[in-house]
Amino acid sequence: MEGRVDGARAADLAALVRAAASVVALTGAGISVPSGIPDFRTPGTGIWENVDPMEVAHIRAWRADPERFWRFYGDRFAVLGDKRPNGAHAALVALETRGRLDAVITQNVDMLHRKAGTRGLVEVHGSIATSSCLECGVRYELDEVVERLGGPFPACDCGRPLKPDVVLFGEMLQQDAIDRACELAAGADLLLCIGSSLEVWPVGGLPQLTLDGGGELAIVTQGPTQWDHRATLKLEGDVEAELQALVAAL
Ligand code: ZN
Repeated sequence: MEGRVDGARAADLAALVRAAASVVALTGAGISVPSGIPDFRTPGTGIWENVDPMEVAHIRAWRADPERFWRFYGDRFAVLGDKRPNGAHAALVALETRGRLDAVITQNVDMLHRKAGTRGLVEVHGSIATSSCLECGVRYELDEVVERLGGPFPACDCGRPLKPDVVLFGEMLQQDAIDRACELAAGADLLLCIGSSLEVWPVGGLPQLTLDGGGELAIVTQGPTQWDHRATLKLEGDVEAELQALVAAL
């Protein structure tokens, strides 16, 4: 199955993209799996295997014990920082370059859309690209944060622990990112949902905004989502192969 897709279905998706004046992609963990980043909801995978992310990656954990938080999260930084975008990320860049894609809204914090070269990008859960000091507001780039991982935790020049600029469990989302994502979804003729189970807020609510605005949904995701019954098209093949077939069929 892997690497092979139904050409007729890819052509159907291409037809939807061609017919839409505005296409917006919404991506989740599934698009990064071919880059070697496990979806943490999948049991028994990688660094999340023996921890509960809801506990360790919680703002409470960062506040209570930054050293323990960074012992775990620092490993994640090192792993994610080395990952490269895959053919699915590249396919979205190709669509954008051809004027077929307005923007990518992503739940992922792994920077892979940035590395691939997507320009219209909304990272609704933030990204590991920077970390900040909540005391004095100074922001540090990833390279700088990695250099500071040697101590008990990466610290600001003021001595306080840095917090990654990702939305931790228990934290509020960035309102400007949410507003932009909602605006894009509401204005889309086609919301192309990729590699997301569409469960987690806010992305779980974005398909409704597209439908309310008269747009359509296409879903490229393995496994069921709560929006499958409202989608014009659902593709379940390998995410890289499906998106490369879409680009080829346009
Ligand atoms: Zn500081």
